[in-house]
Amino acid sequence: MPIDVLDAEPEPRAIDLHAHQPTSEFLEEAGGEMMADAARKFGAELETKEYDEMVAEYRAAGVGRVVLLGWDAETNTGNPPVTNDYVAAVRDAFPDFFVGFASVDPHKPDCVDEAERAIADLDLSGFKFQQIAQGFDPSDPAHEELWKTIEDLGAPVVFHGGNSTLGAGAPGGRGLRVKYGNPLLIDDVAADHPDMRICIAHPAFPWEKVQLAICQQKGNVYMDLSGWLPRYIDEQVLRYADTLLQDEVMFGTDYPMIEPDTWLEDFAAHTDYSEDVQRKLLWENAEAFLEL
Ligand SMILES: [Zn+2]
Repeated sequence: MPIDVLDAEPEPRAIDLHAHQPTSEFLEEAGGEMMADAARKFGAELETKEYDEMVAEYRAAGVGRVVLLGWDAETNTGNPPVTNDYVAAVRDAFPDFFVGFASVDPHKPDCVDEAERAIADLDLSGFKFQQIAQGFDPSDPAHEELWKTIEDLGAPVVFHGGNSTLGAGAPGGRGLRVKYGNPLLIDDVAADHPDMRICIAHPAFPWEKVQLAICQQKGNVYMDLSGWLPRYIDEQVLRYADTLLQDEVMFGTDYPMIEPDTWLEDFAAHTDYSEDVQRKLLWENAEAFLEL
């Protein structure tokens, strides 16, 4: 089923706020066993791909820009990072397509310096945190200098929201703690740093209602719909995206776990938003969040 607002644009216009590398750097090295657990549990065959193929796939689906996320959970998982230099190099190969987001490991003593370097030297556009994989509580005062630095840099931040599929089904979930995905921990950061633009990624199962409350109450907090096909997203989230939160909710896939044409087809089949709301959700809200 086509999406009229995408078809009406002369150039691919939608923005995917949440994509990972379809290469061994993410799927095998950084992901390690916890990623293999997720693939087994959800039956996803994750074949590695080249970036040319990824970009062509997106453009064919009507998506013109993609936020590519770094990954550094080295202290907590022992796996090597997808480095900020790597993300910047991929961005430089497709500068009109990728928006590069850095990752810093909050447990590393040089995380504040690395955050500054990612913006000043690598010209990355924002930050991504995955609190469950990285094993930290964002509301812990130990991270205050990092948040203050990022707020002063004026860079947007994507925090993971909700449970994670990483480690799914493994004994002890490979030691990963679901509690760090509770969006209420991000509410503290958002309250103390009103100039930090925050996106709580994914419908934050099982705390979607908490997430909606925070997005509604705090003008600096957005959310995206990545990681879930629309058919599985909580009804209340879909209703808020159409009404109260129509200026805060953004499109995202969690590529390569979900591909853009698959998500967009499911969106067309399971929602009935006006063209106005579709444009906001598919690109206008992301343009505001990213200050494009
Ligand atoms: Zn993700």
